[in-house]
Amino acid sequence: MAVAAYTQLADIDDCPLHIGITEAGSLRAGTVKSSIGLGNLLWSGIGDTIRVSLSAHPSEEVKVGYEMLKSLGLRRRGVTVISCPSCARQQFDVIKTVQEVEQRLEHISESITVSIIGCIVNGPGEAKETDIGLTGGGKGNHQIYVNGITDHIIRNENVADYIVNFVQNKIDQRKLS
Ligand code: SF4
Repeated sequence: MAVAAYTQLADIDDCPLHIGITEAGSLRAGTVKSSIGLGNLLWSGIGDTIRVSLSAHPSEEVKVGYEMLKSLGLRRRGVTVISCPSCARQQFDVIKTVQEVEQRLEHISESITVSIIGCIVNGPGEAKETDIGLTGGGKGNHQIYVNGITDHIIRNENVADYIVNFVQNKIDQRKLS
C-alpha cells in the first residue's frame, strides 16, 4: 500500500518525497519489509530522503538505511563485507569471522570493500571485486589480496584480528596520502 501511494504521489507531483515503511516490525522482519518497499521505490527513482522504522534500537534504523542505499549503489560508506555462506570446504570459521570483522570495524565511515571467503572456489573471484580480499587456504595458509591482486599469505593467524588490523591500516594510510 505504501509503495502504491508513493508511486501515485510521484506521478502527480514533482515535490521531494520522504519515503518510509511505517510500523515495519522487528529488526529482521522490518528490515526485509523496508528493503523491499523502499528498494522498490528507490530503484524506480522515487524518494529523496528515507526513513527506516524498526522496533529496535534507533541506531539499527540508521545502519539498515545505509545498507539499503549501499546495496542500491546510491551511497558508499563504511566497510562493505562480501562473504560466502560457508560450507564443509571452509578453511576458517567464516560466519564468526564476518560477524567479528563487521562489528569491530563499525566505526569506520570511509568506504572500503572486503571479501571474506572460506576457500579457493569463490575467493579469487570475489577478491577481484574488492579492495581487500581473504581466501581460506589449506593448513592455515590463507591468501590476502589487495585491489584484486594476490599480495601475501598469512599463516596460522587469528583471521579476524588480522583483517581488522589490515583494514584499519589501509584506512589510516589513505588518510595520510
Ligand atoms: S566459497 Fe568455499 S567455503 Fe565458501 S561456500 Fe563456497 S565452497 Fe563453501
